[in-house]
Amino acid sequence: MLWLPLGPFHAMENQMLVIRIKIPNSGAVDWTVHSGPQLLFRDVLDVIGQVLPEATTTAFEYEDEDGDRITVRSDEEMKAMLSYYYSTVMEQQVNGQLIEPLLIFPRACKPPGERNIHGLKVNTRAGPSQHSGPAVSDSLPSNSLKKSSAELKKILANGQMNEQDIRYRDTLGHGNGGTVYKAYHVPSGKILAVKVILLDITLELQKQIMSELEILYKCDSSYIIGFYGAFFVENRISICTEFMDGGSLDVYRKIPEHVLGRIAVAVVKGLTYLWSLKILHRDVKPSNMLVNTRGQVKLCDFGVSTQLVNSIAKTYVGTNAYMAPERISGEQYGIHSDVWSLGISFMEPLQLLQCIVDEDSPVLPVGEFSEPFVHFITQCMRKQPKERPAPEELMGHPFIVQFNDGNAAVVSMWVCRALEERRSQQGPP
Ligand code: ATP
Ligand code: MG
Repeated sequence: MLWLPLGPFHAMENQMLVIRIKIPNSGAVDWTVHSGPQLLFRDVLDVIGQVLPEATTTAFEYEDEDGDRITVRSDEEMKAMLSYYYSTVMEQQVNGQLIEPLLIFPRACKPPGERNIHGLKVNTRAGPSQHSGPAVSDSLPSNSLKKSSAELKKILANGQMNEQDIRYRDTLGHGNGGTVYKAYHVPSGKILAVKVILLDITLELQKQIMSELEILYKCDSSYIIGFYGAFFVENRISICTEFMDGGSLDVYRKIPEHVLGRIAVAVVKGLTYLWSLKILHRDVKPSNMLVNTRGQVKLCDFGVSTQLVNSIAKTYVGTNAYMAPERISGEQYGIHSDVWSLGISFMEPLQLLQCIVDEDSPVLPVGEFSEPFVHFITQCMRKQPKERPAPEELMGHPFIVQFNDGNAAVVSMWVCRALEERRSQQGPP
């Protein structure tokens, strides 16, 4: 067994921690964390995501003194792991031994077929040996965690995205307009979601769409999906965005209210942000609300490009269950229409969708759900657009205020559990 060359008490004094991330069938990557005790579960998942960009990692394991593997999928379990680890560090210090790094084993949701075929951009030790020497990587310092996604966005946005740099992987889903793929961006080593839409339009219209999409580079909100670029190849456009490993809300079954509340807060903030830029979403629905294992909730597929919306509409004409009554009857679309769709989106996970056009606005039964929640949905779904809450009223609504506590761990834990459940139902690959 190899030890890190840290002197006695060194690690505890500086609260420094070296986490050795084991790469399946390969070596390991060492990550030096400078504020170990403050480390959050999602920070670790984030780094694992950088080390293993092609896997969807929802949890990781560590070994206890008997060699049993213990799973970590929440901040509480992180705390338990760290306190166990620090107790072993103390023991090593007392015995005058050098301190061993904390070894963790990422657990992928789906084992990726091929791994590392394009060469990871992290400092890995080659070879299958568990006993490879310590490779303290300076490519993943803890303070770069927050920066990395903004930097990546800049790199991707400046370097033009193009088809040659993208390797399409799994299909994430089909919509009315196109297909979304999980894809690997070779130069950055990052996983993206790429939406490919077939559009038989003139070069002129293609240019118009590209310039209308420019505004997406300026969208900078943690409640809006990151945009990395778009390009046309022949008669199809590829729109590259941030990949959200929890997918969209429509695939989740009944969502408990304390989770739904935090999701609603993020959605309201995302919409308020778009409205402040004078952008109407125009397609608010659960499949356009994405979640990830870090507990983030982001909106996607909003109508920034009129030309793109029009071109897609030519191939698809219809209404959907989330459209406001005034929109279905061809009247003017406004913020209020987005608010209607917001209300019905949050009603749907509760499986209480009712007829929306001709009948009275649906009302949720009080008792089963909290009064503020029922009131929130009922207000959003007022028949008269002007009676629906304005943006500032949404933010000030008791249901939103109640859950506006920035507690991403609630959503993170729920997403991780749901993914785990889905994985166990699918059985071994
Ligand atoms: P519509 O075409 O009517 O808007 P939709 O939203 O279901 O329907 P798409 O937008 O094509 O259709 O998306 C298909 C599916 O791809 C979504 O339901 C979602 O699960 C998945 N998806 C889309 N974007 C991402 C992303 N950035 N990260 C992860 N999954 C995504
Ligand atoms: Mg969509």
